[in-house]
Amino acid sequence: MSARSRLLAFICLAFLSALACRTAEGWLGLGDEPVTADSSPPTASVPASPPEVSTTDDLRIETFAPRDSEMTVRFTLQPGEVSFLFTATATDPNSEVAILRVTAPDGTLLYEDDYDSDLPGGGWFTDFVYDYGEVGLFLPIVPQMPLPPGEYAVLVSTEAAGFSDLRVIFKRGPADAPQALDFTIWLATGELGVITAPDLDEIRGEMDALLAPHDLRVGAFNVQEPDTSVVAQFAEIDDDETHLDELDIPAACGVMARAGGASRSVHLIVVDWITASDAEPGDIVGYSAGLPGSILNPGGRLSCIVASYQAYLGSNLEHGLTWIHEAAHFMGLLHTTEEDGLYFDNLADTPQCPADRFDGDGDGYVDDYECGREGGADNFLFYSGILEFAPFTITPDQAWVLRRHPLFYPVAP
Ligand SMILES: [Zn+2]
Repeated sequence: MSARSRLLAFICLAFLSALACRTAEGWLGLGDEPVTADSSPPTASVPASPPEVSTTDDLRIETFAPRDSEMTVRFTLQPGEVSFLFTATATDPNSEVAILRVTAPDGTLLYEDDYDSDLPGGGWFTDFVYDYGEVGLFLPIVPQMPLPPGEYAVLVSTEAAGFSDLRVIFKRGPADAPQALDFTIWLATGELGVITAPDLDEIRGEMDALLAPHDLRVGAFNVQEPDTSVVAQFAEIDDDETHLDELDIPAACGVMARAGGASRSVHLIVVDWITASDAEPGDIVGYSAGLPGSILNPGGRLSCIVASYQAYLGSNLEHGLTWIHEAAHFMGLLHTTEEDGLYFDNLADTPQCPADRFDGDGDGYVDDYECGREGGADNFLFYSGILEFAPFTITPDQAWVLRRHPLFYPVAP
């Protein structure tokens, strides 16, 4: 039986009128699904075909010809490149895809899922890397992780017959220059959820306030209002409101990626309500389809984030916080502390709120007030977020990771 027990998709919930996010563990009853029918050793390494290469200014993209349902993809990080985002798409969107091993150029183990351990091998990751239909791997995940030039090897496996897409996006430095993050926004709300241009300006301003201390900012807002016939492909429309079921989010991302292209931007769908079979309307405020998600991939399904508009109607600060929080998940960042006070991110400078210290009422959850600022209730990636703890902050280590992600691009100061 696999030791993997937590699903790497993030659902963000409104919790006691707060922004709360947590993993889907327990809530959806998922987990403990082995990647393959047995735990036999990985198949022999399959060398990838020579890659097709396309280049933008500071990005280099390699795509690989998929072969088997379990294969080692080898690629070379060149001098001056500071990060890479690997994504693998299975032929079946419902099949599990998992990263099983990652090795550095000198053979050092960076990550391993050996089926028997509670934690991944290599010592860097705090959770296993797998998802359904697609999976993403973004390195480096912490500032302490060396990422020297040379050949990396990623062993990836799926329960599907094979892969339809394998790609690596490399980003060239310098990473410490000012950078911006574009958004492509589909306003898929109904007539009751009208988002005006001044609203969008305010939301952008809230995100900028959070990013500015780190020389990061929001770039373009490419706003589109898809036709009702397009929205109806992924959401239910009634009473002038749109309802998107969380199970339909990957399909919604796929519709957006096919219709709108796969630009270098956060692809965000704003609906009135995000629904789930066991959640009340308004409980779910945001959702990142990937952790990290796939970008610049026209067929990508884990390629967007979703936000509810009605959940925070009238509060552009909360919209801004939700959008950038989900965007950060999409770029691979974890909650600083999960609601159980047992799981944390892997960054050294983010505050933690362990249950054994902070769960004052012993109910098994650490809330904003129990944690306070000391426990990180004012961090933008705390699992929850109450406006009382504003202004929210991004730590230097969180910014360090974000500015290496290929969605951020260099801009003039
Ligand atoms: Zn979250």
